Amino acid sequence: MNHSNNSADPDVVLIGAGIMSATLGVLLKELQPDITIEIYERLDMAAAESSDAWNNAGTGHSAFCELNYTPVLADGSIETSKAVKIAESFEVSKQFWAYLIEGDLIKIPGNFIRSIPHMSFVWGDANVRFLDKRYRALTECHLFKGMEYSEDPKQLAEWMPLIMEGRDKSQKVAATRMEIGTDVNFGELTRRMFDYLKELDGVTLHFNHEVRKLKRQPDSRWQIKVKDRASGGKRKVKAKFIFIGAGGGSLHLLEKSDIPEGKGYGGFPVSGQWLKCTNPAVIKKHQAKVYGKAAVGSPPMSVPHLDTRMINGKRELLFGPYAGFSTKFLKSGSYFDLARSIKVNNLRPMMAAGIKNIPLTRYLIDQVRQSPEDRMAALRQYFPNARSEDWKLEMAGQRVQVIKKDPRHGGVLEFGTEVVSAADGSIAALLGASPGASTAVSIMLDLLGRCFKNKLNSAEWQAKLKQMIPSYGEPLGDDARLLEEVREHTSEVLGLKNIEQLH
Ligand SMILES: Cc1cc2nc3c(=O)[nH]c(=O)nc-3n(C[C@H](O)[C@H](O)[C@H](O)COP(=O)(O)OP(=O)(O)OC[C@H]3O[C@@H](n4cnc5c(N)ncnc54)[C@H](O)[C@@H]3O)c2cc1C
Repeated sequence: MNHSNNSADPDVVLIGAGIMSATLGVLLKELQPDITIEIYERLDMAAAESSDAWNNAGTGHSAFCELNYTPVLADGSIETSKAVKIAESFEVSKQFWAYLIEGDLIKIPGNFIRSIPHMSFVWGDANVRFLDKRYRALTECHLFKGMEYSEDPKQLAEWMPLIMEGRDKSQKVAATRMEIGTDVNFGELTRRMFDYLKELDGVTLHFNHEVRKLKRQPDSRWQIKVKDRASGGKRKVKAKFIFIGAGGGSLHLLEKSDIPEGKGYGGFPVSGQWLKCTNPAVIKKHQAKVYGKAAVGSPPMSVPHLDTRMINGKRELLFGPYAGFSTKFLKSGSYFDLARSIKVNNLRPMMAAGIKNIPLTRYLIDQVRQSPEDRMAALRQYFPNARSEDWKLEMAGQRVQVIKKDPRHGGVLEFGTEVVSAADGSIAALLGASPGASTAVSIMLDLLGRCFKNKLNSAEWQAKLKQMIPSYGEPLGDDARLLEEVREHTSEVLGLKNIEQLH
């Protein structure tokens, strides 16, 4: 751990050492090398909460397989704008990661990102019709070029043998397949970004340091109070800009900042669990991320999926997530987190969101009450021949869904991510968790636009951003040629499959 003597206060404080702080820290140092940054993390290592590979699904979200990104509209048509935005954002992330690798900024033993087919799988007439329609709607856009669709059991058995073996032959089934999907070890990537950052002049990284308080100073800087969890020591640090990238811990700190923009926000924790396969012969037979359709009343992030993963150089197979309820906001948090987050200004939105989301509450209660056999039954809908002795239950990460004020309903529960920033741009917090790590770069670019607006518009920053992210400022969904160029480059640098070479 690097120790700061606190002799000079930094320009920037990043709270939390997850993928969001890592991304913002590297972006800022590349854009302005003389900027000084202090990073405070309450645990003894980086990326030990949501960003760790075992705590998230590692899906490079591109909307290739996630059916909740393409809702059905009232007229029966498929809404694709969210899918396009997420696919564009992931291309932005890949460009930034390629820049890090090409410039030797990060050194990754083995690949942190790999190509793995992304598939959507459904059964039943209505779901098959939906998938067919979704496939037609998406493939109108070049971002989804190369997506395949099939209802042929033989073809499906080739694509996903575990899912087709032992399945009722009278059941109507369909799947889409996108060969250029990815599996990402976000934890590994995050740790390597911090390895790079902490060696730079003007950057200090403090593990075991928990930020407890935030207060605006008369000179418009922020003062934070930090507790060293190892020694019990306390310190005060002042900075011109604070990023609250504390994952599930962000809401509490936003509340403590007392900025008017943060009023009325609440959080609803949803925990997760996976079934992890322990049989190497079974693991070997599956080679895809296969996403299904969420059960009625369930939150979008609990869409079941059977996923091939590559974690610490080893191939794994996970099924889930099973949703659960815990009052903790962080996996290593406190059972009082939810109670402590309730304030006068968010009580109404939280109650209104609670009343409006009774099906979700019911769903979570049902999930918590599941027996091991219930969990196996859910798995067998995807993998009919699954045997209980081949699967072990593991805890996934904790998510805190955003609750916010809503003029019509009093309060709403949201499933996305939200950057909340002060009007003067001196502080920003990231709330929520989806689509999450895959879109970290776009989220942080949005944050730079709010909090470093003048610098972002300068010729120097614009030129550097173009160097790091060649498509910066140009929506890839509107420009097929640019997408082709960008994908060719990132695929080469990151060692990924490229659709142009495959078809
Ligand atoms: C079950 C699950 C599945 C997911 N699947 C995917 C997926 O497939 N693809 C994808 O792109 N995203 C996925 N996500 C979302 C993704 O994991 C998150 O969006 C991302 O990791 C959030 O990064 P972060 O840096 O904001 O938070 P985190 O990684 O949680 O980091 C926050 C850090 O802040 C620290 N901290 C908290 N409070 C304090 C404090 N007071 N002082 C100092 N430090 C503090 C914490 O210890 C932690 O290290 C998933 C998440 C979950 C839970």
